[in-house]
Amino acid sequence: MPRPISATVSVSALAHNLAAVRRHLDQTAAAASGVAPSIWAVIKANAYGHGIEQAVAGFSKAQGLAMLDLDEAVRCREAGWGGPILLLEGFFNPSDLDIVDRYHLSVTVHQREQLDMLARARLSRRVDIMLKLNSGMNRLGFSPAAYPAAHERALLLQQQGVIGSLGKMTHFACADGPQGITEQLAVFNSVTHKMAAGPISVCNSAATLRFAEVAVGSEAQAHWVRPGICLYGASPFADAEAAAFGLKPAMSLRSEIIAVQELKAGDSVGYGALFRADRPMRVGIVACGYADGYPRHAATGTPVVVAGIRTRLVGRVSMDMLIVDLDPIPAAGVGAPVSLWGEEGPSVDEVALAAGTIGYELLCALAPRVPVARDA
Ligand SMILES: *Cc1c(COP(=O)(O)O)cnc(C)c1O
Repeated sequence: MPRPISATVSVSALAHNLAAVRRHLDQTAAAASGVAPSIWAVIKANAYGHGIEQAVAGFSKAQGLAMLDLDEAVRCREAGWGGPILLLEGFFNPSDLDIVDRYHLSVTVHQREQLDMLARARLSRRVDIMLKLNSGMNRLGFSPAAYPAAHERALLLQQQGVIGSLGKMTHFACADGPQGITEQLAVFNSVTHKMAAGPISVCNSAATLRFAEVAVGSEAQAHWVRPGICLYGASPFADAEAAAFGLKPAMSLRSEIIAVQELKAGDSVGYGALFRADRPMRVGIVACGYADGYPRHAATGTPVVVAGIRTRLVGRVSMDMLIVDLDPIPAAGVGAPVSLWGEEGPSVDEVALAAGTIGYELLCALAPRVPVARDA
C-alpha cells in the first residue's frame, strides 16, 4: 500500500473556472458595447502544480495557452492542443527558435537581444510576437523610452516576413492591491496609443477580475487576458476569497490519520515540543509533511478538515507528518479522511495565509512524490 496521500485535480473545476471568467468578460464587454477579450489560460509551472495534461483537458475552450517553458509548450502540442501558445518570457537563445518554429509558438519579446535573434533566424514561417512594455514593474519589457524604436524594428521584421502578428503587452505589479493599475495603464496607453493596431494583452487574474473593462476590445484591436491563479480556483487577492467570484478549487490534497495519540495535560507533540496540551486531548498524526509540499511555516491553528469537520493543526509540521487536534471529532481514528486543502476545505488560500504565503506558492510546490489523480 502506498502512503495514503494524494492530490486530485478536477478537470471539470478547471473548465468551470474558465467558464466563470468567460462569463464575466462577456458581461463586461456587453455592458461597454465592445468586443470581449480572448483568454490565454496561463499554465506555467506545470499548470500551477495541476499538470499540463489536466490543464489542456480543462481549458479546451480557452482561445490560447500561455506558459514559460518550451518543454511545457511541446507537451501541450503532444497532448493535442492545436491553438495558440504564448511563451511569456519568449525565448532564451537562438536554438529555442527552432522549437518555436517547429511547434508554432507565439513569443513575448521583451528585450533587444530577442529582436537580434529573430533578425538572424532562419524560420519556416512567421512568428507571432507580443512586444512587452515595462510600464513600471521593472521586471521584463522595453522601457517607455525604448519601446517605440523596438516597435519600429518589429514592424520592419514584419515587412521582411519574419514576424507575423505584432501585439503589445504589459504586466501589472499591483492589480491585486489598493494601488491598482491606473498608473501603469496610463503609461501603457500613452506609449502605445498611436502605434499600428494589433493584439493587446495587459490583464492577469487580479486585473481580469477587478478591471475587466480595460480589456474590452474593438473590431480593430483584439484584447487577450492572461488569467492564471483564478482558473485553478484560488484567489489573487488577500482581501477576497475565490468562492466570491464563483470559482471552485481544482486541486484537493487529501490524506488520512495514520496514528492517534492520547495526550495528558502538559504533554507536547512534534519537533521542538512547540505545542503543549493544556488538558487531556487526542491528536491525529496525518501522512502529509513539508516533503509533500505542505508548508512547514503553517502554525498551530491552521485549518484542517478531518472526516468533514474543521479542526486545527497543532505543533510543527515535519517532513512526512503533521498533527491535528481530534477533540472536535471524537469518532475519528486511524484511517479517517483528512483534507489539507481543496473541495472539502479549507481553501488553499486559508492554509497559505496561516503559513505567511499565498495560494500560488502552495499549489506550485506540490511535491512530485504526491500522486496526482485526474477527476472528470
Ligand atoms: C503568471 C503570469 C500571469 C498570470 O498571473 P496570475 O496572477 O496567476 O493570474 C499573467 N501574465 C504573466 C506575464 C505572468 O507571468
